Amino acid sequence: MKISEKWFGKKILCGVGCNYFCCKSPSFRVEFSKDEIGYLSKKYNQSIKSTEYQNGKCGHLNGNGCSFGDDDKPKWCKMFPIVENSNNRLVLSNWSWLHCPKPNDYILDRIEDGKWYYKLKKRHKNKLDQVILNDDIENVIPNFFEREDIQGVLNER
Ligand code: SF4
Ligand code: SF4
Repeated sequence: MKISEKWFGKKILCGVGCNYFCCKSPSFRVEFSKDEIGYLSKKYNQSIKSTEYQNGKCGHLNGNGCSFGDDDKPKWCKMFPIVENSNNRLVLSNWSWLHCPKPNDYILDRIEDGKWYYKLKKRHKNKLDQVILNDDIENVIPNFFEREDIQGVLNER
């Protein structure tokens, strides 16, 4: 599978500036492999289908986040917002480009006591009004080539 250099160079504030709306979006779906269905349904005693459409919210979401945890959640979710397009190329999903916070959505408000305070330029339900970082937003937020959370998944390609 090929990677889109253009999309992998983008930055999204996953878990830093968002409200995890991918787990709550009506238009999002989750795909589970056969192995994942076998493993997860037994370990977590949950009923799992190969494709699950979210009717307002993923059925595996609980008050603390994904009920499978970061390690066990399906590859589909570990990869997201990276998805495979019809040309077998890994790209950024359209949904995320529209709904997920990006560095350019924020403007530096102040630097105080070694913290960088950024405020959102335009309110959005999936974008936090304020993000507090330890450095310039461009230095702190990695692009998809640099993101540790998807390295393992990419290496399995
Ligand atoms: S894909 Fe978007 S909504 Fe989901 S965790 Fe990342 S930034 Fe948040
Ligand atoms: S399986 Fe977990 S990570 Fe994936 S959409 Fe559902 S709650 Fe979110």
